[in-house]
Amino acid sequence: MSGSPALLMRLVASAFNVAEKAGAIVRTVLHSGELGIVEKTGANDLKTLAERLAQQSICASLSRRFPKITIIGEEELPDEEIKEDLIENGHSEEILQKTCPAEYSGLKEEELVVWVDAFEGTKEYLKGFLNNVTVLIGIAYEGRAIAGVINQPFYNYQLGPGADLGRTTWGMLGLGAFGFQLQEVLRDRRIVTTTCFHSNKVVMDCVDAMEPHEVIRVGGASTKIIQLVEGKASAYVFASSGCKKWETCAAEAILNAVGGKLTDMHGNAYCYNADVTHMNSAGILATLRNHEYYVNRVPQSVLQALKSD
Ligand code: AMP
Ligand code: MG
Repeated sequence: MSGSPALLMRLVASAFNVAEKAGAIVRTVLHSGELGIVEKTGANDLKTLAERLAQQSICASLSRRFPKITIIGEEELPDEEIKEDLIENGHSEEILQKTCPAEYSGLKEEELVVWVDAFEGTKEYLKGFLNNVTVLIGIAYEGRAIAGVINQPFYNYQLGPGADLGRTTWGMLGLGAFGFQLQEVLRDRRIVTTTCFHSNKVVMDCVDAMEPHEVIRVGGASTKIIQLVEGKASAYVFASSGCKKWETCAAEAILNAVGGKLTDMHGNAYCYNADVTHMNSAGILATLRNHEYYVNRVPQSVLQALKSD
């Protein structure tokens, strides 16, 4: 490699380790994923603590190394001294060795916005679905999600004690997506993934309008988008507001990196500039391919109810 690595490669290489550290913090605070913990009182307090420490770790680690980048996190954190052991200084050498796509090789810190959700999947965690918990670091340039890192701290928890817990998936537009196994790609079956705990009649009518062969429900926007990337689902359909930019940016970038698409229910892209509204108010429609098929089937009533930004 000639010269020093491009800023975007350095940022994603750091974000990889930072997401792993945050995932480890989440696991440690939540007692290594013991399911019993969610039945005890105080599960919500533990979750809040895990979320706060993980977000402190992510934001402080990235802003020390990349001070001019705008970082937007889910939680409003008090301006307090961060404990030094929360700081992650490492990076993924494997990512750093990759060549930055030419169109991003000259990016500057001031041009990037990083969207952070240190703990997606709260409701699912409190109900014991630990594999739906994710740590999300999404990177946007000119309003578009171009790179993302997702750590799933409890990936493999169903395998029981001694299992190697956790997985980190990452991707970059123009480079591809890494850290997961592609399932046999679905060709003829429409498998729609949607919400577990934020459903209503409009949401379900919209799913039905897609004429799915199968409907699956998991918690978290990013968990569902990973299902698309892995080839386990063909469309993520959520005809409701409620989901926020920090919940979609990282996974949308990974989906973009494998040729997929995420829009609102009208087929319009969301913008990830620093000054946008945080809510994805017009729902989520994400696909690996055949996006138009799904957009064309969204009922008029949904389009009238959910206005694009
Ligand atoms: P779900 O598919 O229900 O897991 O929702 C995807 C993401 O959007 C999750 O991070 C949820 O917390 C968020 N979300 C969706 N609907 C709502 C809502 N009505 N209130 C708060 N958060 C929501
Ligand atoms: Mg959160």
